[in-house]
Amino acid sequence: MSKEYDVVVIGSGPAGYVAAIRCSQLGFSTACIEKWLNKENKTVYGGTCLNVGCIPSKALLDTSQKYVEAQDHFSIHGIKVNKVDIDVPAMIGRKDQIVTQLTQGVKGLLAANKVDGIAGTGKLISANKVVVTGHDGKQEELSAKHVIIAAGSVPIDIPPTPIDQETIVDSTGALEFQAVPKRLGVIGAGVIGLELGSVWARLGSEVTVLEALEDFLPLVDRQVAKEAQKILSKQGLDIKLGARVTGSKLGKGAKKTVTVEYLGEDGEHKATFDKLIVAVGRKPFTDALIDPEVGIEIDERGFIKVNDQCMTNVPNVYAVGDVVRGPMLAHKGMEEGVMVAERLANKKTQVNYQLVPSVIYTHPEIAWVGKNEEELKAEEVDYNVGVFPFVASGRALAANDADGLIKTIADAKTDRILGCHIIGPSAADLLQQMVIAMEFSASAEDIGLTMFSHPSLSEGVHEAALAANGHAIHIGNRKRRK
Ligand code: FAD
Ligand code: AMP
Repeated sequence: MSKEYDVVVIGSGPAGYVAAIRCSQLGFSTACIEKWLNKENKTVYGGTCLNVGCIPSKALLDTSQKYVEAQDHFSIHGIKVNKVDIDVPAMIGRKDQIVTQLTQGVKGLLAANKVDGIAGTGKLISANKVVVTGHDGKQEELSAKHVIIAAGSVPIDIPPTPIDQETIVDSTGALEFQAVPKRLGVIGAGVIGLELGSVWARLGSEVTVLEALEDFLPLVDRQVAKEAQKILSKQGLDIKLGARVTGSKLGKGAKKTVTVEYLGEDGEHKATFDKLIVAVGRKPFTDALIDPEVGIEIDERGFIKVNDQCMTNVPNVYAVGDVVRGPMLAHKGMEEGVMVAERLANKKTQVNYQLVPSVIYTHPEIAWVGKNEEELKAEEVDYNVGVFPFVASGRALAANDADGLIKTIADAKTDRILGCHIIGPSAADLLQQMVIAMEFSASAEDIGLTMFSHPSLSEGVHEAALAANGHAIHIGNRKRRK
C-alpha cells in the first residue's frame, strides 16, 4: 500500500520547501522528500542555500568584513583597538550555528504547515509515483496527483583539479577551512569565486583568482564591472583574466600544497597555493532521480526541460529551481515554487523572468536588475542614463563607506525604467526598491517624484533616477543619452 498525497515534492531547498508549504497552505496534502544528512548524520531541510550556499557564505562574509572594519576602519572613526585577531574555528562554529538554526526553522515551518517531511532519496518511477529509499535502505512508495521536482544543483568539478576537500576544495569545502590559508588560489571569477575569495582575502590570505575569460563579470554592466574590478583588486584580490587552468599537482610535504598550471595570453604559468577553491559553476542534479521510462525530457546541459510555468513534458510533473533553466538563484526557485503551487490551485500566478535581481555579496555589494547599457545598445533601444556616485551621499560618507555608484537606465521615449545597476554599500537592499518600481512599470520620473528619507543610502536611488532626466540636485547633471 502506498501513501497517497495530492503533491509530492522531491528536494527541500528553497524551491522545494517553499513549493511544499504553499501547496499545503492551498489545501493540498503534501509531502517533501529530503536526502541531505548533516555532519551529525541527521536529515536537514533547506538544501544548498541553507546548508552550504547563500547563508553560510554570508555568515563568513559578514564576519570577515567586521574583521576588516576593526582592523582598518575603526581608527578612522577614532576608535582604538589594540590588536585584532581572528579565531577561525569560532567563525566557522558561528556559521554552523546559524545553519542549524535556519535548517531547524525550515523543519518547523514544514511541520507547522502540515507538510510531511520524509527522509530519504526520492525517485520518480511514474508520473504519479515516487519511491523513497531511506538511509537504512528501506523503501516506501508514495502516490501523488502532482509531483514537483526540486532536486537542485551541485558544484561542477573539472578534470585538471580533482576535489579532495582538503587542499583542492569546492565551495562546500571553502566554508570549512580551520585556518587562514597563506596562499589561496580560486578558479573562476564568478559570483561564488569572488565571494569566497573575498572572505579569505579579508582575513589575510594572498588570493589569486584565475579566470579563463578575458572579460571580468561579462554579464554585469561594463561601468559597474570596471569599478568592481578596481575595488576588489585594491582589496588584495589578484584577478588574472584569460587564465585557463589546465592541470594541478599536489605537493608531497607534510603541509600539503597544490601547484596549478594555467594558460595565459603569454603562455604557460605555474602557481603554488596552500588551498585551492574550484568555483567554476554548478550543474543541475538529476542523478538516479527519474526512471527513464517516465520519459521526462532533459536538455543537453542536464536541466529538466520546462515551459514558463515550470511544467515538464509529462502531465502532473513539474520542476523548479536550479534543476531547470534560468539563473541558479534561491529567490528565482522560491518564486517558481509558489507559481507551481498556485497554478495547481487554478490561480494565474506567473514568474516575471525579466526582473530577477542578481547580487554579488562582496564589499561593496554588486547588484543589478533588468537591462544594462550593452544589452540596450545591441537591441538598438534609445535610453537615458542617470549615475549617482556614493561619494556624494552624506549617509555613505558618514559611514565611511562611499565607494561605488548607482546607475538608472530609462527608456528615452517613455521614461520607463529598463535597468538598475549598483555597486556600493547595501546594494542588494537598495536595488530591491527599483525591482518593486519596475514590477509596477515605474518611470524614472515616478521615482523622482517620490519622497526619500534623509539622510539615507536610498537617496542615491532617488538622485540616480532624477539624473536620468537631467534633474539631479546633489550632483552635476551630465545627461547621457544613447
Ligand atoms: P537546492 O538548494 O540545491 O536543494 C535541492 C535539495 O534537493 C537538496 O537539499 C538535495 O539534497 C535534495 N535532493 C536532490 N535530489 C534528491 C532526491 N532524489 N531525493 C531527495 N532529495 C533530493 N543564491 C542566491 O540567491 N543568493 C546567494 O547569495 C547565493 N549564494 C550562494 C553561495 C554558494 C556558496 C552557493 C553554492 C550557492 C549560492 N546560491 C545563492 C545559489 C543557491 O544556493 C541555489 O540557487 C539554491 O539553493 C537552489 O535552490 P533549489 O531548491 O533549486 O536547490
Ligand atoms: P560562474 O558560472 O558564475 O559560477 O563562474 C564560473 C567561472 O569559472 C566562469 O567565469 C568560467 O569562465 C570560469 N572557469 C571555468 N573553467 C575554468 C578553468 N579551467 N580555468 C579558469 N577559469 C575557469
